Amino acid sequence: MKTELLDASGAARAAELLRAGGLVALPTETVYGLGANGLDEKAVARIFEVKGRPQDNPLILHVASAEDLDRWCRDIPAEARALTERFWPGPLTLVLRRRPSVPLRVTAGLETVAMRCPDHPLTREVLRLAGVPVAAPSANLSGKPSTTTAAHCVHDLWGKVEAILDGGPCRVGLESTILDLSVFPPRVLRPGGVTLEQLRAVLPETELDPGLVRPDEIPKAPGMKYRHYSPQAELRLLRGEKERFFDYVNSLPDAGTAVLCYAGEEGNFPGKRALAYGREDAPETLAAGLFDSLRALDTPEVALICVRCPSEEGVGRAVVNRLKKAAGGKITCL
Ligand code: AMP
Ligand code: MG
Repeated sequence: MKTELLDASGAARAAELLRAGGLVALPTETVYGLGANGLDEKAVARIFEVKGRPQDNPLILHVASAEDLDRWCRDIPAEARALTERFWPGPLTLVLRRRPSVPLRVTAGLETVAMRCPDHPLTREVLRLAGVPVAAPSANLSGKPSTTTAAHCVHDLWGKVEAILDGGPCRVGLESTILDLSVFPPRVLRPGGVTLEQLRAVLPETELDPGLVRPDEIPKAPGMKYRHYSPQAELRLLRGEKERFFDYVNSLPDAGTAVLCYAGEEGNFPGKRALAYGREDAPETLAAGLFDSLRALDTPEVALICVRCPSEEGVGRAVVNRLKKAAGGKITCL
């Protein structure tokens, strides 16, 4: 298949392709999404095929504005309004009860649907012009790190989708926070760009899913059960002091070992491939750099990537969540 690479002038073309049943990789502030007309079952089915995505992993339905919620969801609690007012457009996905017009293929058979209004001018324009809700998971092959640039999308999806819309690098760099509002108290199923602290400022009752709280438990929400965000190499997530981490890494063979470290630390691993993904004291820079760095280290020569576990404050919680999934759920204490 021929894939069109569209630039900032390509919103109308992207909308046209979506309306015709095509797949288009779309820029958002979180990560790139692999979009299809959410009302077109055939197009939605192709998302699963192209990504190699398990059928029981639901998609997020993207809309142009909060006013669209009523069209696709029912029994919307007052909390949803307070949250959309504060955080939409933005990196917050709300799980609500679906109306029958939302195909079960989008929700993987669930009676709830995940809704989001992305904060990227180009994609909002596409959503407005398409006039349909756009179902989209992240625009990567299933299991791989999400795509945060058009080049990543080209790498994973070239020749498999109708178009890739280049909107530059994603600002947040990690997937949206998913909040389940179909239960009370509201529950965070996936941490992301909107932090637990920010949510609690609006809804103090907000809880973290037990699967996120207890490191050894297997998460129970759909889509949380698969190994995810993983490069080819083994990712080893290590918890401990800086010096211990340096000693540990330096005790490993140079060949095949890479380090994902903080800015300014690159010189501490002589002989090894060391790449900084952001600043230790600024978790939003770690979020923005994580997937690009994991992809950059994903070369045949690298067999093991060592990362020191960041602090779980603010967006750091989402960074640790992704690192843990990429490490197969395990944190090794030094
Ligand atoms: P992603 O796979 O990162 O592109 O985003 C989609 C994710 O949203 C899935 O992996 C699920 O974890 C989550 N999701 C979507 N719909 C629902 C739902 N109805 N209930 C719970 N989680 C959902
Ligand atoms: Mg994904």
